[in-house]
Amino acid sequence: MLKKGTKLYSILTGSCPKCHEESMYKVKNPYHLGSLFKMYERCSHCQTKYKIEPSFFYGAMYVSYAVGIAFAVAAFVVAFFAFNLSLFHTFLAIVGTLIVFMPIIIRLSRNIWINIFIKYQGKSIQID
Ligand SMILES: [Zn+2]
Repeated sequence: MLKKGTKLYSILTGSCPKCHEESMYKVKNPYHLGSLFKMYERCSHCQTKYKIEPSFFYGAMYVSYAVGIAFAVAAFVVAFFAFNLSLFHTFLAIVGTLIVFMPIIIRLSRNIWINIFIKYQGKSIQID
């Protein structure tokens, strides 16, 4: 299902966007909030530098708006249509969802952002 070599794999697991061999994050679990932003400087397998430039991950904020909206829409659909909640309670469900999933949204945004710039190249150089 979730195979190495697809961008989705790197995005969902937070693994190195180039080789997919190891996590970019020092602590994989995003709910360790103190370590939410702690990333390795570079990949020990392929030496990819994650922070391409000093303020590289600021750009991930723009991605997080889109990811946040996707979570909000999902929460809206579930709360309003599946649970038939009132608009007010649906609103509370959306706010609650965004707060609960915020660490995941932040990580996903970083993973998506870096995957826009760095392509998967496999473990080693392969000759076809
Ligand atoms: Zn790597």
